[in-house]
Amino acid sequence: MSGVALFFDRDGVLNVNTHYPHLVEDLYLAPTVIETFRLLNCFPEVTCIVVSNQSGVGKGYFVEKDVLHFERSLRLRILNETGYLIDAEHWYHCYSSEKNHPWRKPNPGMLQQAAHDYNIDLTKSAMFGDSISDIKAGESANVLNTYMIDYDLDKDLYHGVFDFLYNHTSLSTEAWQKYFNKELNYV
Ligand SMILES: [Mg+2]
Repeated sequence: MSGVALFFDRDGVLNVNTHYPHLVEDLYLAPTVIETFRLLNCFPEVTCIVVSNQSGVGKGYFVEKDVLHFERSLRLRILNETGYLIDAEHWYHCYSSEKNHPWRKPNPGMLQQAAHDYNIDLTKSAMFGDSISDIKAGESANVLNTYMIDYDLDKDLYHGVFDFLYNHTSLSTEAWQKYFNKELNYV
């Protein structure tokens, strides 16, 4: 059976967008990322995929190695602080700055490729992004829900992910109970 995935844009959603961030010293976790992955720890059946336009490579601002190094640090930060590991193979990029490239958001190519690679049902999945091109990519891929993240407007990642998991998936009551019991221990 095909599964549910959460597709995340990277810059502005998982890390603060410091304008083409690619150096580890410019890596800052975005607000509520810790809470989000503590939540996702309770639902291992949900696949997390990162889909990121990284046209800075195509434009010659930095190279692929910088992207991968930056993302390794991001993955480790999330792992160390939440115990959740986003699989290293679940990070998709479009390095091209060519607008018509099928993988470059707002085109849906990265989501479609990931759905093919990991047997994901896009119509049961969600896209979380901070730009209109993320939302369009999700819509073109026929995902069930899209969430525009805007930390300045309190539209944060945690509340988006919580809403989707709670209201639009059929995850087990036991897993939710486990989550709420665990969260009570943090208070
Ligand atoms: Mg972004």
